[in-house]
Amino acid sequence: MTLQFHDTATRTVREFAPLQPGRVSVYLCGATVQAPPHIGHLRSAVCFDVMIRWLEASGYRVTFCRNVTDVEDKILRTAASEGVPPWIVAERNERAFTWAYDAVGCRPPDIEPRATGHIPEMIVLMRRLIEGQHAYPAGGDVYFDVHSFPAYGALSGQRLDQMRPAEDSDDTGLKRDPRDFALWKAAKPGEPYWETPWGSGRPGWHLECSAMSTKYLGPTFDIHCGGMDLIFPHHENEIAQSKAAGDGFARYWLHNGLLGLAGEKMSKSLGNSLLVTDVLRRVRPAELRYYLVQAHYRSMLEFSEEALEEAVAAYQRIERFVLRAAEVLGTLGLDTAHASPGEDDAEELPTSFRSAMDDDLAVPAALAAVHACVRDGNQALAASDKTGVRVSLIRLRAMLDVLGLDPLAPHWSDVSAGASAGSGERLRQVVGSLVKLTLDQRDAARARRDYATADAIRDGLEEIGVVVEDTPQGPRWELKR
Ligand SMILES: [Zn+2]
Repeated sequence: MTLQFHDTATRTVREFAPLQPGRVSVYLCGATVQAPPHIGHLRSAVCFDVMIRWLEASGYRVTFCRNVTDVEDKILRTAASEGVPPWIVAERNERAFTWAYDAVGCRPPDIEPRATGHIPEMIVLMRRLIEGQHAYPAGGDVYFDVHSFPAYGALSGQRLDQMRPAEDSDDTGLKRDPRDFALWKAAKPGEPYWETPWGSGRPGWHLECSAMSTKYLGPTFDIHCGGMDLIFPHHENEIAQSKAAGDGFARYWLHNGLLGLAGEKMSKSLGNSLLVTDVLRRVRPAELRYYLVQAHYRSMLEFSEEALEEAVAAYQRIERFVLRAAEVLGTLGLDTAHASPGEDDAEELPTSFRSAMDDDLAVPAALAAVHACVRDGNQALAASDKTGVRVSLIRLRAMLDVLGLDPLAPHWSDVSAGASAGSGERLRQVVGSLVKLTLDQRDAARARRDYATADAIRDGLEEIGVVVEDTPQGPRWELKR
């Protein structure tokens, strides 16, 4: 079977053939950095990370561009509510996203353009659209004229006369048609702005992706991807902007299903508990990745704690075999166990795995091949069949590498050694809890007037480098420098 993708634009599964033989260009709509990421944000990143890994395992050289939306209504609102400039909000959250992508082992993009760094490109695109009668300035805004582009609505399968008005600007009567969408928004007091021939303002959300994808990947490129919630209006509008300007734009459109919370109570505390930093206090990064990867990328994934726990158990089943096999193979096996996946891997991948991945990235079927391999490997272990163990281990690690789930990949050991901020944070939490537990014991000793024990606890802490200071607010501690 050759590689097939479900293309949202044609609503069919199409054979994948890149524009240039051997090369694939990919644009993924990245984060609007108004808040730190929750695990729903990571699903898109992880799904398309698997796509990129599979393209690379299939022999393609991939150029991967993922943008950062760093100026947008929601960022401005957050900044206003915090009383800080918008760039402080954007920078802080962009770092949180980068950290989260990295924690779960997503390959960094080759280029990660920010909207605010590409205003000149947006102005050029607006000029092309205005000159081609596809856009018009009005009162400092610039609008796209949806009637000028007959294919408007094709991606999302809507007819223009049935569409609702674009909800991207105040209804000031400036638009020729309520469905026209804003390419550019006139500056409001206190907001960041850039000067253009049509007035000072800031970009509408959709314009940046048309300007930046074609700048880095060319006027026509292979794959555009993002969450299903972006099909309309975002991607519909990107197509209108780029194709009306005369660019070929994306040749395949891939969309991931969202992470739903319908099964859980939608409370603020749950929302917070699904922040990536919080989930990574409960499960390890590789386990979270397994949870996000296991369902088909196009399916809706309903979050539940049970499903997360099942994913953790499934990953640990794989991990136990890999670690045990590497141990049993000993020094002889270490070459195999620690060999970085290389050119021969393609031959090691079982046919069932390959055809599953070629079939629109059918990860659930690919994972069935993974677990079958673990079962074979465990049988070989039980039978002390070292050759069988080695074959299973090589095959398994080749498959897991494609999914970004190889327990022996250096990435995860760096993470668990605290090289990643996430596990560093987790370690700090554990140390903090241990010190608190110890100080509670000291308080209990004092309460029963057992001062010898209380002093011994304090001295013991000091000996391991934890200095305790008693303050009116209670004991404070820090690590001795
Ligand atoms: Zn976008």
